[in-house]
Amino acid sequence: MADGAPARRAGLDYARRVTALKTLSAAIRKSEAEIIAALAEDLGKPEPEVRLTEIMPVQAEIAHTLKHLKRWMRPKRARGTLIAFGTRARIRPEPKGTALIVSPWNYPFGLALGPLVSALAAGNAAIIKPSELAPATSALVARLVSEAFAPDFVWVAEGGVGVAQALMDLPFDHLFFTGSPEVGRKVMAAAARHLTPVTLELGGKSPVIVGEGADLKAAARAIAWGKFANAGQTCIAPDHVYVARGVEKRFVAELKAAIAKMYGRTPEAQAAGRDYARIVSGRHFVRLTGMIDEACAAGAELVAGGESDRATRFLAPTVLRNVNPGAALMREEIFGPVLPLVPFDDLDGVIARINAGPKPLALYVFDKDRARIEAICAQTSSGGVGINVTLAHYMHLNLPFGGIGNSGIGAAHGEWGFRAFSHEKPVLENRFAPLGGFMPPYRGMKARRIRLMARILGR
Ligand code: NAD
Repeated sequence: MADGAPARRAGLDYARRVTALKTLSAAIRKSEAEIIAALAEDLGKPEPEVRLTEIMPVQAEIAHTLKHLKRWMRPKRARGTLIAFGTRARIRPEPKGTALIVSPWNYPFGLALGPLVSALAAGNAAIIKPSELAPATSALVARLVSEAFAPDFVWVAEGGVGVAQALMDLPFDHLFFTGSPEVGRKVMAAAARHLTPVTLELGGKSPVIVGEGADLKAAARAIAWGKFANAGQTCIAPDHVYVARGVEKRFVAELKAAIAKMYGRTPEAQAAGRDYARIVSGRHFVRLTGMIDEACAAGAELVAGGESDRATRFLAPTVLRNVNPGAALMREEIFGPVLPLVPFDDLDGVIARINAGPKPLALYVFDKDRARIEAICAQTSSGGVGINVTLAHYMHLNLPFGGIGNSGIGAAHGEWGFRAFSHEKPVLENRFAPLGGFMPPYRGMKARRIRLMARILGR
């Protein structure tokens, strides 16, 4: 069923785009069992989590795109202006050409194929470089794509950093990168050599604020799910929680109850259960346990978890308080199931602390007080905001998804994904514009008319 749609400069027409998207959807549907097995092998991901966070987002992106693509592709009329009197203006989205998609290991299926949906919708050809740290999923994505598409249309280049760097030496027409801010900087520098436009979907420390007015049980459940799904290896996972001192004790109790209910009461039950993922690699396991040890050595208190097993890369859902602000846990993106709690008395101080750091990818607020929620939204800057919810803004296809500053450039999902891979080309057509009136020689009446016009229109 290989779809050999040609990748010419003009890009794909509507019908070929629809065929390509339907081909991809069918290939995914056919391979569901293998996708689930690959993610179990790479990350110990529970099957429902694979369906919810890897397969469903890609299929939903395809369905949403098929529903709206015709409208997105249609040239949009631009309203006339006085200066352009007598012309007709349109904005015509056109494919950029051939896109490079480089993806991370944490959602190695969804973050490789999700951007492909947008690239195809915009009529491009694409090469995908999946993460080498999720080798089973990388191999599966390569097989699935090679069975679905001709290699000069969509192709998967498997491999590590060297392969990514070699690809980035080529003059792609768009580079869509999902990964860490550190590597994002290198990617942007590489893209600059060819002036390749970039979308950078990066990470960072996403804070949570639990206010005095929060529904503590609901907040604890949402935060536990957002933090411990995929064992915390989620770009928009809550990184750390600022909790109003007056509710801290009750919040801690609710958080412990939520962890016990979702993953089990003891580390043995959590490890034996089928709902909790594993740390991706030995290197990340050592990094995370090292962060916990460092914090505890400096006086942090373990509120929950802390247990780990190196052989199986199990790290229990862990909650800490009193973490030294200088500790790695408070400086680096945690990207694992470790949640520091920071009690606060003064919301302005929390806002100032957030604003003193790099702009986060997500910021979460749990409260019922509209004024406090509005103050936080208005006085902070982040890629996105979740109010009384975690993670779910990622799934809303009528919202752009992306970062700002250190957490990324550009946006993905739905129409924003389509636009990332399109050039929005302005087309101006002359119908009866009196252009002769502005051409030399500039003498007499003509010069006076231009002077008058410039005065009126340039005001
Ligand atoms: P990473 O930056 O280490 O790797 C991402 C990809 O870049 C991989 O395919 C890798 O092979 C490649 N790469 C690594 N070094 C490179 C180099 N020097 N030049 C070119 N390519 C290179 O990221 P990761 O560890 O796979 O993923 C974790 C990070 O990704 C976290 O920071 C997380 O927050 C972020 N992330 C962001 C999103 C988002 O949508 N914004 C989603 C998932 C993960």
